[in-house]
Amino acid sequence: MSKLGKVDQRFVWHPFTQMRDWLRQDPIVITRGRGAVLHDDRGREYLDANSSIWTNLHGHQHPRINAAIRRQLNRISHSSALGLANEPASQLAQELVRAANPGARQPRLNKVFFSDDGSTALEVALKLAYEFTRRTRGKASRPRFLSLAGAYHGDTIGAVSLGHIDLFHRAYRHLLFPTDAVMSPYCYRCPFNRARPERADAREYRRCNWECVGQVEKKCAAQKKKGNPYAAFVFEPRVQGAAGVIPQPKGWLKSVTDIARAAGSLLIADEVMTGFGRTNSSGKSQPGNAALFASQEENVRPDFLCVAKGLTGGYLPMAATLTTQTVFDAFLGKYEEFKTFFHGHSFTGNQLGAAASLASLALLQERAQGMARQALEARLSRGLQSLWALNSVGDIRQMGRVAGIELVKDWRTRAPFHLRERAGIRVCEAMARRGVLTRPIGNVILLMPPYCTTAKQVKRMVTALAESISEVLEK
Ligand SMILES: *Cc1c(COP(=O)(O)O)cnc(C)c1O
Repeated sequence: MSKLGKVDQRFVWHPFTQMRDWLRQDPIVITRGRGAVLHDDRGREYLDANSSIWTNLHGHQHPRINAAIRRQLNRISHSSALGLANEPASQLAQELVRAANPGARQPRLNKVFFSDDGSTALEVALKLAYEFTRRTRGKASRPRFLSLAGAYHGDTIGAVSLGHIDLFHRAYRHLLFPTDAVMSPYCYRCPFNRARPERADAREYRRCNWECVGQVEKKCAAQKKKGNPYAAFVFEPRVQGAAGVIPQPKGWLKSVTDIARAAGSLLIADEVMTGFGRTNSSGKSQPGNAALFASQEENVRPDFLCVAKGLTGGYLPMAATLTTQTVFDAFLGKYEEFKTFFHGHSFTGNQLGAAASLASLALLQERAQGMARQALEARLSRGLQSLWALNSVGDIRQMGRVAGIELVKDWRTRAPFHLRERAGIRVCEAMARRGVLTRPIGNVILLMPPYCTTAKQVKRMVTALAESISEVLEK
């Protein structure tokens, strides 16, 4: 084992990792990266097939983002946002408002609260939604939140409360506040889908009556009847990531958000994964002018838009919660009324992060970049078709530049592997041996390449995946 690997094993505790397994293996120690390629301390090369856990947009060491950070570094790295403004953060707020309200003369989402990561962006949204609702409905009301089955919104206690992944949340349930879950449109395993499995994305051949929309309607109506509508409906627009890459059939998002709003709740769009062009189908709009947020694809106008992961292009930890003038105004008052939003973090509005974000946003809006995203989506889609030949591929679900491949014992029965069998983990280990890095979500293998990934690199990713599935599951 390398010296650095030893140091790691001696001192570092890794996230979402069974450390006993970790300590039994030689760790991969990343030392450099360029574009979609990562290098380790032994000179091996890997493709970054999940964009370094969904953060990286344009590839590693992009010259424009590197230059922006260096320029900022020569001025100042950080000063406080408590009582002070700074140059790149103010500009970034303006650019985020522009991107979140394309073409609008009077932007609806026009206030930006900065924080550090996806979890804190959600904490801000949920605290604001809760307090706003109590201020408008009466301080005695204790409004609840509604979110989707399998939802993941981060790991801080508030964000965990909004989530519904039992495995992650079970241990902490007494620390959490109660929230309601409603079924998500997981067509492949939907109890209402009467279609037999086919060799296609389950959304395309499903047979149902949109019962999933009916379920949202029921939940919202019941809560309204109690005289206490949900403070907010919280969702990942168009595709849930950590729930297992669950893309929503076209029209679902618009329907359920209309229902939730009509029943009196606010809308919190968690675009931590979906944002910044990751999921938007680039075909429709002009490539140079493409919408950057998933909610825009179905004309959904949330009251809170949470962004993080890709905000800085994946270079630095930074997040933002965008909201409306209406919410903002509810926190205005004389000092002694104490209507202030008492919340903030030491690194709120960090200059290096803001400078990187500005460079990334500028790149995203270039025509050539839009074309590249379009090409990547098409390549990924073409490449993935070959996987239908494998018996243990049950569903292939793609939304923009994100794809989930669900592994099953036999596609004809949809029989799932037990988590104990570690099917997804073993396939990803086999991929790593072939020089392609990604992480599974249970039995779902996720591919989310950075936008700079070339045709050849996409091919290598898909080939490594196909070979690994054959090696591990179809021997
Ligand atoms: C990753 C993620 C989060 C949490 O973000 P962190 O930066 O890890 O705290 C929240 N919501 C979604 C949808 C995510 O994918």
